[in-house]
Amino acid sequence: MNLPSSTSNSANTTSNPPEICENCRSQDSWIIHPARYRSIFTFFCTHCLLRKHPASFCPTCFSFYDSSPPHHSRRVSCSDCGSHTHIHCAGGEAVSPPYRCPPCRDPDSFSFFRPIIDANGVRCVDKSLSEVFLCAAKISAASMSKAVNFAKCEAERRGREAAVAKMRAREALVDVLKLDEKAKLDRDQKPNVSHASTNSVQVKKQNTLVQLDRVKQEH
Ligand SMILES: [Zn+2]
Ligand SMILES: [Zn+2]
Ligand SMILES: [Zn+2]
Repeated sequence: MNLPSSTSNSANTTSNPPEICENCRSQDSWIIHPARYRSIFTFFCTHCLLRKHPASFCPTCFSFYDSSPPHHSRRVSCSDCGSHTHIHCAGGEAVSPPYRCPPCRDPDSFSFFRPIIDANGVRCVDKSLSEVFLCAAKISAASMSKAVNFAKCEAERRGREAAVAKMRAREALVDVLKLDEKAKLDRDQKPNVSHASTNSVQVKKQNTLVQLDRVKQEH
C-alpha cells in the first residue's frame, strides 16, 4: 500500500497548520494520531504513540489489549517500559526475567513504524507495518473514546455544580428578602416604641412633680 508523502504540502494547510508529534516533532500528518495523554489532548506519530502506551499492546504481534492484558501466566513484562509481551511471542516458556521488549533492547535506532521506500522512491507499508499502524489507530481510538467520556462526565459534574450554585443563590436571595422585610417591620415599629417610651418618661416626670408638690405642702 502506497502512502501519501505528507499532508504538510497539501493545499488546506494554510488554514489548518500541520499536526506535529509532540514527542519527536515529526510533521508527517498522515501518521499523526490524536490521544489524551496524562490528561492533555495531544498528537503522536505511530512510533511515539506506541512507545507512550507500552501496556496497551504486545510489542511483537501488535495485538491491542484494550485495558485487559493477558494473564500473568501468559505474558512476560519488560523490565524497562512495563510492556506485556505474549509468552509465545517472546519465544516460549523458556523466557525468564529480566526481559526487555524489542524497542527497549535498541532504544536509539528502533522504530515501530518505518515505511518502506520502493524502487520509485514512494513510501509504502507491508502487512506487518499495516498491523502496527492498525494497533496505533486502535490505541488512539480508545484514548479518544476515554477523552469523550471524561469530557461528558466533566460537563455533567459542572452542570450539577451550576445547579447547586443556582439553588444556593436563590436561597441567599430569599434570605436577603426576609431580612429586608424584617428590617422594614422593625422600622415601622420603632416610632411606636419611642412614642411609648416618651409617654412613660412623661408619666414618670409627672409623678415626680406630684411627689415634689406633696413634699412642699408638708413643709
Ligand atoms: Zn513521534
Ligand atoms: Zn503477541
Ligand atoms: Zn520495553
